[in-house]
Amino acid sequence: MVTFIYRRTRMCLYPKLIMNPKYKVSKKNKGVIPEMKDKRVMMIPVGCNRCMECRKKKSREWNVRLQEEIRNQSMKGYFMTLTFSDASIVKLMEIAKKEGVDFDGYELDNKIASLAVRRFTENWRVQKKKSLRHWLITELGHSGTERLHLHGLIWTDEPKEDLMKFWKWGICDTGKFVSERSASYITKYVTKMDVVKDESKDLDVSNGQKEVGSQ
Ligand SMILES: [Zn+2]
Repeated sequence: MVTFIYRRTRMCLYPKLIMNPKYKVSKKNKGVIPEMKDKRVMMIPVGCNRCMECRKKKSREWNVRLQEEIRNQSMKGYFMTLTFSDASIVKLMEIAKKEGVDFDGYELDNKIASLAVRRFTENWRVQKKKSLRHWLITELGHSGTERLHLHGLIWTDEPKEDLMKFWKWGICDTGKFVSERSASYITKYVTKMDVVKDESKDLDVSNGQKEVGSQ
């Protein structure tokens, strides 16, 4: 008897086809484009980054990175919830509009959150003379009953009261120390939320050098 084992491959539900970067001018190939021996490799599928499968994939990746970060980081990590007051939302919206943001809804909420985080970490960096290592994700008020807020992790050796002082946009609730277990709990959020864009690319644990939020 033959038993077939199907391994469920997880793939984006709505992949897009893009031109294979291997055959485009890049720093890596220094303008020397290799010969395309087979036309079928001209286009390759990439994930949409929005569908449930893409989000689950991202969540798994973040989980691995954060676990590693927690193991290797000597600073204390806190589980954070950051909220916005009405006045802050209005103010941040004005700043976003000044920066030429013409979108609304989902994109605007994301922009508001990243502006707030940027100012928060910038002030910290200027006054404390060091960067604030953080990983924050936005929870958007999709349901209409919930308001835009942030959850995430912040690593620091400074007193946690200082975090509250620096978060001027609303309430800063500092939770318990982060463990590997709470990290997997938070990365599960990624499947339904959005990582604040500026931060997601900055927390590149693999290079270990770059401070999150630093310019
Ligand atoms: Zn997708």
